[in-house]
Amino acid sequence: MAGEPQADCLFCKIVAGDVPATVVRESQTIVAFRDINPQAPTHILVIPKAHYVDAASLAAAEPHLAADVLAEAGAVAEEENIVPSETGPGSGYRIVFNTGAGAGQTVFHAHAHVLGGRGLNWPPG
Ligand code: IMP
Repeated sequence: MAGEPQADCLFCKIVAGDVPATVVRESQTIVAFRDINPQAPTHILVIPKAHYVDAASLAAAEPHLAADVLAEAGAVAEEENIVPSETGPGSGYRIVFNTGAGAGQTVFHAHAHVLGGRGLNWPPG
């Protein structure tokens, strides 16, 4: 059934506590934890506890849950002091949803990358 935990999903295992993670925020609906292979000084993943393969599937099935993920990504940025305050490197952050293997998605459980703490180039690679 949509949203149900999947036995072979790494992020479902993190939600269940079966795989350890450095959790920075948790609510009834989401978990946020540090990426194991950080690409910036702040690199945190915000995931819905419910299993959806990507952000679009999540938003189509449970738009309020997709909104929770975005709101929590913003809260993570506040906690990490990477919200834009002045212009210059390090002030500001990026929320990324890789969608599909061709776009770099490797874990097929919806997740927002929150990246910041350094200057971020555009366009991304
Ligand atoms: P994707 O490539 O957009 O699917 O992002 C998956 C992310 O999960 C990558 O940035 C990985 O470094 C990260 N990752 C993989 N395994 C773990 C883990 O066990 N803990 C935390 N992050 C992980």
